[in-house]
Amino acid sequence: MAAELARHYRALGLPKRASRAEVRAAYLELAKKWHPDINRRRNALQRFQQINDAYLALVDRDPGESVPARAPNGHEAAPKRVRIPVPLTCSRCGEATAQPRQASYASIFSLLLLSWRKESSGIFCPSCARRESLRSSLISGLFGWWSLPGLVLTPLAVLRNARGGKSDDAANLNFLCHNLQAYEAAGNEEAARRIAYILARTPSSVAVKINMSVAALIASDAAPPAPRPDEWKPRMDQRLLHIAAAAAVPVAVALTVARLIV
Ligand SMILES: [Zn+2]
Repeated sequence: MAAELARHYRALGLPKRASRAEVRAAYLELAKKWHPDINRRRNALQRFQQINDAYLALVDRDPGESVPARAPNGHEAAPKRVRIPVPLTCSRCGEATAQPRQASYASIFSLLLLSWRKESSGIFCPSCARRESLRSSLISGLFGWWSLPGLVLTPLAVLRNARGGKSDDAANLNFLCHNLQAYEAAGNEEAARRIAYILARTPSSVAVKINMSVAALIASDAAPPAPRPDEWKPRMDQRLLHIAAAAAVPVAVALTVARLIV
């Protein structure tokens, strides 16, 4: 147990009392670097799986809980208690969310010749993601247009926000794996099976390590879960709202200029 925990901390390059936020940050950075779809090194898959295992083992650990020491007889000390994984929560509303997504949305600020971008990132539930992306587009629409680079950066940022922001697919897949374990542990079979079906349709090497669990859930005798609307599916009305948020200032300027000329 102690050796295993130490190995997990080492895999993420963290000290043994790293906080949950540090575990998440290290994981996101390393998962991006070592994802086998991106990293062509021979050991990429192995390294990626180590990082995933470490993340799943450490993310729900109490940061104050020290790594259990070895007893004098050389055997590992008995763990204080078994930690059951809990579903991940949205970083904005704090609610547990079955299908969380890591995403980042861009706001553009411009002044005279300069423009700069501020990223707003987190792990979101679908409704907080919609709100945060629209807020970023609205800020860009109000403050982004006022320089030459801003004329290019603002529409690009709004377009990116409208399409769901910048997201880390590898991290999102692992959040699903984590939640699958959490719902399974909590006995919420319907939620677990819903996630299992999503994962079963995901053609990725990450899904391999939870295949047994996915297969067991899907093969169980109960009827497949009733389909539910995909809350993450991009909606046309949302896209139009982004465009309206970005277009308000240029339209107002055009109307003012037109009125002055006429
Ligand atoms: Zn939320």
